[in-house]
Amino acid sequence: MAFDIKKIRADFPILSREVNGYPLVYLDNAATSQKPKQVIDCIVDYYSNYNANIHRGVHSLSQEATDAYEQARKAIQEHFNIEKTHEVIFTSGTTHGINLVANGFSSLLEKGDEIIVSALEHHSNIVPWQMLCERTGAILKVIPMNQDGMLVFSEYEKLLSDKTRLVFVNHISNALGTINPIKSIIKKAHQVGAAVLIDGAQACSHIKPDLQSLDVDFYVTSAHKMCGPTGVGILYGKEEWLTKLPPYQGGGEMIAEVTFEKTTYADLPHKFEAGTPNIAGGIAFGAAINYLNAIGFDAIATYEENILEYATKELLAIDGLKIYADIKEKTSVISFNIEGIHPYDIGTILDKMGIAVRTGHHCAQPIMDYFKIPGTVRASFAFYNTLEEVNRLVEGVKKAKMMLS
Ligand code: PMP
Repeated sequence: MAFDIKKIRADFPILSREVNGYPLVYLDNAATSQKPKQVIDCIVDYYSNYNANIHRGVHSLSQEATDAYEQARKAIQEHFNIEKTHEVIFTSGTTHGINLVANGFSSLLEKGDEIIVSALEHHSNIVPWQMLCERTGAILKVIPMNQDGMLVFSEYEKLLSDKTRLVFVNHISNALGTINPIKSIIKKAHQVGAAVLIDGAQACSHIKPDLQSLDVDFYVTSAHKMCGPTGVGILYGKEEWLTKLPPYQGGGEMIAEVTFEKTTYADLPHKFEAGTPNIAGGIAFGAAINYLNAIGFDAIATYEENILEYATKELLAIDGLKIYADIKEKTSVISFNIEGIHPYDIGTILDKMGIAVRTGHHCAQPIMDYFKIPGTVRASFAFYNTLEEVNRLVEGVKKAKMMLS
């Protein structure tokens, strides 16, 4: 499909609404993406026509729902180039996936074992590991970042040792947009026998990761950042790791046999999918992936690069405006401040003009501490944004600066 921005925007009903009397300019895509009608229709279709519980019904509706849910799992498998369908575990999102793995490692780590996180992480890829350290006596080490908002690879190499069990890094930073060199990070970790979990929450709407070629052990992401619904995501795990990890939650669906003396667990992926899942969400996640692939990730990347480059240039022309991580190795996020002005005030004025950005620490307080700032204004772009919208942002920021200086 040719990249037809008009046609693409027409797929997103919300983009034609007004906010505070202005046409909406939605630049908070790093928090969550908007949904095309193909995904919305898919959810309505499920609840209107074949709503039923899955995997256990003999009746036709249950069969239809099960087929659609499992087809979505297949679409996800194919999209991420995952070898085996049962290596795709449906979760409620990235946070759930990370907690599932962190919890599982409780029984695999010993006191004094080391695990490595990066300075660029979202809180959801920090806190579960700190909790794991509290439970096990393992030690958390941090790969430092530099003023460009990039990880210092040579410091990472120094942290690795035969004590390292796990490394967890995000693919792309939600606060700065930095693309981390995950292929090299994974390779180095494997050389000392450590497993790697990549948090792909921020990456998967911009990049199509090939998980087999990355040779990653775990990869987690959320559908809602990829034009899919909230409350659903996936954990990919290599079969050998998913077999080693104990189940996270007990309940229906995840058992083979239950007696009061002993319970045996179901095979993958069901071992990690206790209870009734977000069925409509899983099916719609598949629809979102199909939608993105119909546009094509190469086309998305080229289009978004142009938006990012233009917005960076225009914003930097504003006196006193500083962009954190103004680097080449980044995607679709501009995190900035204007000297002497609190980011919250800029965000509030932009909202009055119908422009949605995020302000604050973006669930990444250690990054803000590093730069010694309370937060930033974050404009984050998607393939449905336009250069005209960037102009609205730039004009809005100029106006906010004038009002607040
Ligand atoms: N990691 C990163 C890099 C993120 O951007 C986010 C969402 N902002 C998360 C993890 C958490 O994702 P979720 O809230 O969907 O679980």
